[in-house]
Amino acid sequence: MKALYPGSFDPFTNGHLDLVKRSCDLFGNVLIAVLKNPSKLPTFNLERRIEHISEATKELKHVQIISFEGLTVDCAKDNSVDLIIRGLRAMSDFEYELQIAHTNRSLNSDYETVFLATETHYSFLSSSVVKEVARFGGDTTQMVPRIVSEDLKKTFER
Ligand code: ADP
Repeated sequence: MKALYPGSFDPFTNGHLDLVKRSCDLFGNVLIAVLKNPSKLPTFNLERRIEHISEATKELKHVQIISFEGLTVDCAKDNSVDLIIRGLRAMSDFEYELQIAHTNRSLNSDYETVFLATETHYSFLSSSVVKEVARFGGDTTQMVPRIVSEDLKKTFER
């Protein structure tokens, strides 16, 4: 099977990576789709985010990375995936994620969204928390892949 994992990944964290690894075990193949959102200015541009993810997943044979714009269900169809995966960290994620899952099903009922609960020790991790830590000079090496922590340091020490 092939699972689509869509997200902004600005930046990609160890929580995201954990979800990718577990999804490979469950579904076989994972297509990570990095969202190009023209209405939001990211910290890392699309090319950089893709570089981070490529480096962080280089040992995983069944992972592919693409960028996408527009509807997730269209991306799912264009890439012939079987399902969509999303992560749930806490109840606070649930309402938003459920809303998106319902919207996606109403747009195209061919695709189920499968939610994976995060690993407990990554449940506090989010891209925005990681950026806050980096902005104030904190150590992010346990939170994100090495390439990302190096890039965060460079970006925020200026
Ligand atoms: P969004 O797609 O809303 O911009 P992200 O790119 O941060 O958000 O996250 C993409 C997906 O990864 C979402 O389903 C989110 O719940 C999940 N996720 C975010 N942080 C973690 C984490 N620490 N562990 C597991 N999954 C996570």
